[in-house]
Amino acid sequence: MPGATDAKPAKPLKNPCNLCQSVRAILKRPKTGQQLCKECFFHVFETEIHNTIVDNKLFNKGDRVAIGASGGKDSTVLAYVMKLLNDRYSYDLDLVLLSIDEGITGYRDDSLETVKRNRDQYQIPLLIVSYKDLYGWSMDDIVKEIGRKNNCTFCGVFRRQALDRGAIMLNVDHIVTGHNADDIAETVLMNILRGDLPRLQRCTSIITNDTSEDSSGIETSKILRSKPFKYTYEKEIVMYAYFKKLDYFSTECIYSPNAYRGHARVFLKDLEAVRRTAIVDIIHSGEALSASVQANESTKLPTMANCTRCGYISSNELCKACLLLEGLNKGLPQLGIGHTTKIRRMAEAANLASGLSSPASLSSSSTSGAAEEKVKVVTHIKDLGQLKTMPSLDTV
Ligand code: SF4
Ligand code: ZN
Repeated sequence: MPGATDAKPAKPLKNPCNLCQSVRAILKRPKTGQQLCKECFFHVFETEIHNTIVDNKLFNKGDRVAIGASGGKDSTVLAYVMKLLNDRYSYDLDLVLLSIDEGITGYRDDSLETVKRNRDQYQIPLLIVSYKDLYGWSMDDIVKEIGRKNNCTFCGVFRRQALDRGAIMLNVDHIVTGHNADDIAETVLMNILRGDLPRLQRCTSIITNDTSEDSSGIETSKILRSKPFKYTYEKEIVMYAYFKKLDYFSTECIYSPNAYRGHARVFLKDLEAVRRTAIVDIIHSGEALSASVQANESTKLPTMANCTRCGYISSNELCKACLLLEGLNKGLPQLGIGHTTKIRRMAEAANLASGLSSPASLSSSSTSGAAEEKVKVVTHIKDLGQLKTMPSLDTV
């Protein structure tokens, strides 16, 4: 019959996307196990981040927001998604990129080139602030001075303050960072394993500022910080970057020795392999624990003032960065690392040793275990005389 067609009924689609049902799924979501097509994955990934931002009221219209950008996958995806959501949902944010140059040859110099390309690709202005300019020391210099132990303590303290200083230069109200759900779950685990409840409280907060100051002496600033990827799985960030063909840098820091975090990461990945919700479950447990700690504890907050040297917010006379710098500049890099009692011990050991005639007499005096420990402590300190001139060790 003219006009009739013999078209066979369409074959059912093999492995259709669980959401749109009209396109073949090409991936399985690590977070939920859903099989999705590329476009549906983009949609759910972006929408979840939008919901996190809205549910937690992270921004106000008109906020000027700095995106902490390292050139790595997390911050590159964050910059891309922040720009996309800002346009799609009219957040009306004024976005800028803020990068810290720690001065790590062969790592940060290359990753900053990626950030510069992102600046051009996404048309977001960029400010780079360097440790060398702010503190007179690059991480390369610091590692030459102190070796590969404790370098991340210096780096972490300096980065925190450098981000704030950069934010002040940029006149921003808020810094967003690319910490993802895996990072936060790892930190929750580490803080539980260390019994560090103040830090547990801090790491589970999606947004922090000076009003959420904890009792552990961790310095905070008046500039808000938030983590829009708090519930975003690392594997999904990698998938998103891959399917969007984003330009990011994927090498690890050459000074990264963080064995403890490495164990927490392996443990978490093992858990995730048998239970895909493990990451988010751990974050929720961390939140519940910190809420109950907050409710039960009459937390004594330190009085916040300003560092007498640099003016940064601090609960001590000198902020942590100035204390670490003091140590570096005076050849006492141990100063400011670890706990008050340890530093007091060093000071006592220094006083005790200053009565001895020469370093040679120290090394030949190792008899008991206690004496050996004193010798070990004393040899860390290059100039024993200087320790006595340090300001108020008791306030450390
Ligand atoms: Fe700094 Fe590298 Fe340590 Fe990270 S791993 S804190 S960049 S030294
Ligand atoms: Zn689909």
